[in-house]
Amino acid sequence: MSEKMIEIKNVSKWYGPVQVLNDCSVSISKGDVVVVCGPSGSGKSTLIKTVNALEPFQKGEITVNGIPLHDPKTNLPKLRSKVGMVFQHFELFPHLSVTENLTIAQIKVLGRSPEEAKTRGLKMLDRVGLMAHKDKFPGQLSGGQQQRVAIARALSMDPIVMLFDEPTSALDPEMVGEVLDVMVSLAKDGMTMMVVTHEMAFARKVASRVIFIDVGGKILEDCPKDEFFSHPENRQPRTKDFLNKIL
Ligand code: ADP
Ligand code: MG
Repeated sequence: MSEKMIEIKNVSKWYGPVQVLNDCSVSISKGDVVVVCGPSGSGKSTLIKTVNALEPFQKGEITVNGIPLHDPKTNLPKLRSKVGMVFQHFELFPHLSVTENLTIAQIKVLGRSPEEAKTRGLKMLDRVGLMAHKDKFPGQLSGGQQQRVAIARALSMDPIVMLFDEPTSALDPEMVGEVLDVMVSLAKDGMTMMVVTHEMAFARKVASRVIFIDVGGKILEDCPKDEFFSHPENRQPRTKDFLNKIL
């Protein structure tokens, strides 16, 4: 039996009268790389944010590594610290150096000593190929470099899963590759990942499954990568429309 890392069960969410997640269920095992795609406004960001309890939901259940989010006894900040999150707009602290960006949460949230945090942070910075930039400020780096720092920062917390929300969609085209390369290498190392992206080349390379979510927050497809790409004729009409637009 593979170890379940994320279990989303029958989750629904409304903003006022508007339903944005409609009975969503997703099961992610250790080492899975699940790519989530779908039109703008379909609820991809909302879904991924529910997983680390950044968004409340009205119906259903989510467990992360066996820990239920809805249980009032669950220590959400602690659980969140185990879930790495990378956003479209990097969200580095502009007034802190790269090294400080990498260490601050390790020190404040995990209680690591500054030395320990620095060792771990710089190891991750090296992993994303940016050791030479450790003393710079985010504003001195390109968008692609900033996003790689954001990934290194998430990895410094020793996450058990990594969530990515359109990590390359704010980047100039020539910088997309360097960020995807880091993500591919993480996937190949066995990291459990849930990735909202329209980069189908990434999905083809490393996804275990591809999920398509339609407007209204309904999951229309959840299908193994090979099936998704090799048998387009078996896709739902809405998925085909969408793929025709982005490919
Ligand atoms: P996606 O990431 O797929 O583009 P989102 O998850 O951001 O979609 O949004 C899903 C739907 O929820 C959209 O219709 C959006 O307008 C709506 N929405 C998102 N955030 C809020 C909010 N804070 N208040 C009201 N509606 C919201
Ligand atoms: Mg979004």
